[in-house]
Amino acid sequence: MPVEQAIATLLSNVKSITEHEDCSVNLACGRILAEPVFAAINVPMNDNSAMDGYAVSIDDLHEQHTFKQIGTSFAGHPFTGQLQAGQCVRIMTGGVLPKGANAVVMQENTQTNGNDITLLKTPHTGENVRYAGEDIAAGQTIFAQGHKLTAVDIGVLCSIGITQVSVLRKLKVALFSTGDELKQPDTPLSAGDIYDSNRPTLHLLLEKMGIDVIDLGVIEDDKAQLYEAVETCDQQADALITSGGVSVGEADFTKEILEQVGKIGFWKLAMKPGKPFAFGQLPNSQFFGLPGNPVSALVTFYQLVVPTLQKMAGMTITPRTRLPAIAREPLRKRPGRSDFQRGVYSVSDTGQIEVRTTGQQGSGILSSIANGNCFILLEQERGNVKTGELVVIEPYDHLLS
Ligand code: AMP
Ligand code: MG
Repeated sequence: MPVEQAIATLLSNVKSITEHEDCSVNLACGRILAEPVFAAINVPMNDNSAMDGYAVSIDDLHEQHTFKQIGTSFAGHPFTGQLQAGQCVRIMTGGVLPKGANAVVMQENTQTNGNDITLLKTPHTGENVRYAGEDIAAGQTIFAQGHKLTAVDIGVLCSIGITQVSVLRKLKVALFSTGDELKQPDTPLSAGDIYDSNRPTLHLLLEKMGIDVIDLGVIEDDKAQLYEAVETCDQQADALITSGGVSVGEADFTKEILEQVGKIGFWKLAMKPGKPFAFGQLPNSQFFGLPGNPVSALVTFYQLVVPTLQKMAGMTITPRTRLPAIAREPLRKRPGRSDFQRGVYSVSDTGQIEVRTTGQQGSGILSSIANGNCFILLEQERGNVKTGELVVIEPYDHLLS
C-alpha cells in the first residue's frame, strides 16, 4: 500500500473526540480548543505611546516648535485633561494618549527648558502611537476550534482577559511492546535478548503530543496474555498502539489475537523503513500495530499514526514542512518503496539547503534517527541519488527535536 493511501485510509477511518471540559488558561498550554475564542476587548484598549517622550498635536506644528508641558501620562495613570493649541503632555511608554494629541515625539528629539519643550524633529501623524485594537480588535476570532494552544497563545488569551477556555478532553492511548526477547534496562541480557527501546520512546512522544498514556510494559509472545492485554486496553483507551508481532513470523501472535477481537487490516506498506503495519477497529478503540524494528516502529508512528491521533484528538492538522535540498553525498535507494531516510541538513554560505545521510539506514539502526535532523523523502520509483541531485527533506518537527 502506498504511504499516501495508507495515511488517507487512516484519517478517513477515525473520528475526532467531542467531549470537552473547561480549563483554566494557566493549565491550557498544549490543549486543543473545543470552540473558537473571540476577543471581547480591544488590545490595546486605548491609543497609547510606544516611547517615552511628549504627546503633541501635529496640527499645531506649522505655528510653533515649542510647546508648554501641562501634565504627565504614565502607564496606568492617564492624563485626564485635553490638549489645547501649543500644549504638550509628558508621556511614558504605555501611557494613554491624551485627548487632542495625535503624535508622540521621542524624548531624544526634544529640548527642555523648564516647562517649555522644543521639538528638534517634525513628527508625522501617528508617530510613536500604538492605536487601540491594533493588536486585536474587539469581536475578532483569536483562535479557531481545533487549535492547539502554545505558551504564546496563553499570553494572547491573557491579553484579552480570558481566564477559562473550553478544551477537548485529552486522548487516552494504551501502549505495549510484544516479544519474549525484550528486557528492561535494569536486567541483564541473555543470548538473543534486547532491551525494549520502542516503548519508552513512543511513551514520551505520546506524552509530548498531550496524550494520556496507559503503558502496559512488555507482553510476552503468549496468546492468553496478549488477549488479556488487548481487552484491558480496549476498555480503557481511545487507541491501542503495539510494536512487534505484526509480521509473518511464527511467534507473531498479535495478528491472531486481534483478528479474534476486532476488524484489523494487515498492510504491507510500500515504505522503507516500515513494511508491516496493522490498523483497525477494536470493539471500543482504534488499533495501530507498529513493526517491531525500532526505526520502522518510529517512522511509521511519526508519519502515519501521529496525524491520525491528531485528528482523533480534534486537532487541526498542519502538514509538516518539506523543503528542496541538494544531496551532498550519494544516497542508496532501490525503486519500489518510498524511502524515509534520515539525514542531516544545513544551509550553505550561499543560502542553499544541503543534506547528508546519517549513514547506515537499516531498520534496526535506531541511532540513524537520533543522529539526524530531517527525513530525506525519496519517491517510490526513484533509484540511487547522485551527489548534487535535488531531494525533498522534511526537518524533524518539535516531536523529534
Ligand atoms: P517483530 O516484528 O516482532 O518480528 O520484531 C522485529 C524486530 O524488531 C526483531 O528483531 C525484534 O527483536 C525487534 N523489536 C521488537 N520489538 C522491539 C522493541 N520494543 N524494542 C526494540 N526492538 C524491538
Ligand atoms: Mg516479535
